[in-house]
Amino acid sequence: MAWQRFGILGGTLDPVHFGHLRASEEVREALRLDGILLIPAASPPHKQQRAITPFRHRYEMARLAVEAIEGYRVSAMEGQRPGPSYSIETIREIKAAWPDAAPYFIIGADAFVDFGIWKEYDRIPVEAQELVVVSRPGIGREQVLGAMGRLFPDSRQLDGSGTLFETGQGGRIRYLNVTALDISSTSIRQRRRAGLSVRFLLPEKVIEYMVRNELYLKTKAEHAGQKAGGVTDSEEMARAIHSAIRDNKGEKIVVLDMRGVSPVADFFIIAHGRSTKHVQGMASRMKRELGRSGIKCLSLEGESEGKWILMDFDDVVVHLFYEPVRGFYDLEGLWYEAPRMPWAYDDKAGHEQGASAEQE
Ligand code: ATP
Ligand code: MG
Repeated sequence: MAWQRFGILGGTLDPVHFGHLRASEEVREALRLDGILLIPAASPPHKQQRAITPFRHRYEMARLAVEAIEGYRVSAMEGQRPGPSYSIETIREIKAAWPDAAPYFIIGADAFVDFGIWKEYDRIPVEAQELVVVSRPGIGREQVLGAMGRLFPDSRQLDGSGTLFETGQGGRIRYLNVTALDISSTSIRQRRRAGLSVRFLLPEKVIEYMVRNELYLKTKAEHAGQKAGGVTDSEEMARAIHSAIRDNKGEKIVVLDMRGVSPVADFFIIAHGRSTKHVQGMASRMKRELGRSGIKCLSLEGESEGKWILMDFDDVVVHLFYEPVRGFYDLEGLWYEAPRMPWAYDDKAGHEQGASAEQE
């Protein structure tokens, strides 16, 4: 049966998870849509700073997530188009191929807050049937309404409950509250790298696929890249990183000796900052400063939120937390068998450190 009114959920989907799927399902039900089309982006225009998993893997994981589930399909159309994946072009392509299609373009509230950087963003609610903004933990309704006013200054409310808007340019935007699932692909990737479980955050078949294909672990190329660099002794590297964290006012620094405990890395360094801004500033300065001394950060995850930033220096993996989040993940508890490096004992325990830490 051909679909006419359907939802589109695009994104990096690296990997797809229950946050994406449940939000889509609630849109499908609320708007009585014929189905949901998942469209993994080939080359996401706004995510160029980290290495994205190859399209074929992200496509395959999306396919496995909804395989045999009625009302769900996956499209490879963005993988077939060269260059960055712009949503407006995807919508145009769909409408050109199926002239009576009424696509409801779904994005999360976090994406809507940054919607102004999307190509021809104001055309999306016009050319799609509607732009459907779904709630997402961490982004309040006020922020969504604030973004609405900024991005669409002529917009007006169409209903009493404040969920349906006209953009002032003939487009429609709907805000839909969905079950709050605080799941992100970033935290799934971080968990994988830290050796933590990701079960029940995403479909089991997707987990099996990522395990089978060794996704979100370190690649051989990354290993080789680091070995070619200046500092090769991992303990020496851990010491240098440790002092960089101290210089940046990181608190309660713990260096775990993972040799013999986990193949993931030789050392885990865990520390926290007092605010997300402090954590973000610390990570970016460390990346820059250590890079100058030949200690290359191979990947940086979580810098946009600043709650848990994972910096991968190959043999040394650094976990920088925003203080209240550190206890939740309790990596030290998880890796209790790993001995702590004595030279890293934090005698001051990070108490009376400077207030300038907040300034980037
Ligand atoms: P990353 O952490 O890599 O950015 P992500 O979890 O945000 O991954 P994306 O692929 O960036 O996933 O998201 C695709 C779309 O789905 C975006 O519009 C995003 O806002 C939305 N989305 C993702 N996770 C959720 C969630 N848990 N609840 C609601 N919407 C979500
Ligand atoms: Mg995202």
